[in-house]
Amino acid sequence: MKNWNYILPAMAAGGEQVLQKLNDHGYDAYFVGGCVRDELMQRTVTDMDITTSATPDQVITLFPDSIPTGLQHGTVTVRSGGHHYEVTTFRTESGYEDYRRPTEVHFVDRVEEDLKRRDFTMNAIARNVKGELLDPFHGQEDIKLGLVKCVGIAEDRFEEDALRIMRGVRFASVFNFDLDSDTWAGMLRQRDKLGYIAMERVRTEMDKMMAGPFPSKGVQLLMDSRLTEYVKSPISFITMDRKWVTYLDKLPQNAVYRYEMVLLLLQIRSTDANTLLREWTFSGETRDRITKMLAFHEEILASLEALNLQDQSNETNGHYSALRTNWISLVLHLGIEAAQDWLTINNQLLKEEGIFSSAYNEHCPLLLREADSWTKEMGVYQVKDLELGGADLLRETGRKGGPWLGRTMKILLHEVALGHIPNVHDDLLQAAKKVIEDEI
Ligand code: ATP
Ligand code: MG
Repeated sequence: MKNWNYILPAMAAGGEQVLQKLNDHGYDAYFVGGCVRDELMQRTVTDMDITTSATPDQVITLFPDSIPTGLQHGTVTVRSGGHHYEVTTFRTESGYEDYRRPTEVHFVDRVEEDLKRRDFTMNAIARNVKGELLDPFHGQEDIKLGLVKCVGIAEDRFEEDALRIMRGVRFASVFNFDLDSDTWAGMLRQRDKLGYIAMERVRTEMDKMMAGPFPSKGVQLLMDSRLTEYVKSPISFITMDRKWVTYLDKLPQNAVYRYEMVLLLLQIRSTDANTLLREWTFSGETRDRITKMLAFHEEILASLEALNLQDQSNETNGHYSALRTNWISLVLHLGIEAAQDWLTINNQLLKEEGIFSSAYNEHCPLLLREADSWTKEMGVYQVKDLELGGADLLRETGRKGGPWLGRTMKILLHEVALGHIPNVHDDLLQAAKKVIEDEI
């Protein structure tokens, strides 16, 4: 038995037991798809798919505690040695409807027929229990060449299922592969079919691309192919400057930062971004995070612009304190996460001259140098961090609740964050009383 090197030994052993049992009962069975590809590419394998000549009923008979996860496609989830494996009967697909799903699935006897329906040559390699590879479309060669290449005629394969276009770009991006020329031409010819694909599925591919090591590669392919202009919720990427796109790869390997940078580079307003991100089926939480960072950016740009218009003779000290006050207000207003995301991204974007505005180029270095310590020194970020609660204030002043209470607490928060008053109960109470007096 040939070992797997890029997978948990227990998972590999459990999968091999499944193959062996199927073989012992006279069925053909292979590992297939992502696990075979990733092992060949020396990448961590996280799950194993199995393909077999046994029908789903036969698989269920052999593995009685299996779960019928996708019977209409011939898929059964088998449990073995504490792990789960998707076991799918050899099949062909036909009658694709609306450029996305096959209406007919036929079970077939030969693994070669099953490999033929798979999208790319590197995903169409089968591996038996002994570790021998079946690679009728020369996927290993394409892996060596670093090529994403369709199985069969690219144009037809993308017409059958337009999601493959996005998958192709995603694989090229994550693996830093090139697109085979026919595959690329097929993508361009069939890109209008992307309008039939659910945005959620498009976004899933985009998420994987953005979370990978080379998002700039994918974004540049999207710029070259203009694919995002053909999806259900279109957006054009072509206004982005390629020089800045390369900085995507330098951000932490987390999709959200990369999306944030893309939207910044596209100069999309935070209010428009919310609608766009909703159409792209982003979760409320991610939408909130991204739009707040964009709002943060807009506020910063506006404040830097204002600073530039002020009396230039007021220079460094005045600027320092204005920048600090503004920063602290923004952290309180939009949250510490927006501030940190903004810093992470702009730390990259400031490495070259000439983005956004001259005021940005002039003042941002100081901001990026100091902002982290300003944020830390604040010590309080929300009203609940204050050593004086709303209830204390009601009791101590004997006043009835009302809008004044929230307003007063916000003023206190600001004053403490700026370092004007200490976060101490008695000092806060005294300051609160003064605020109330001043208001009356
Ligand atoms: P990932 O690393 O994202 O899991 P994967 O190649 O394993 O990549 P899956 O979506 O898990 O992708 O699919 C498993 C296999 O099923 C693929 O390797 C490929 O052989 C086949 N496949 C998946 N989606 C399609 C599709 N849209 N068209 C044709 N074959 C597909
Ligand atoms: Mg997979």
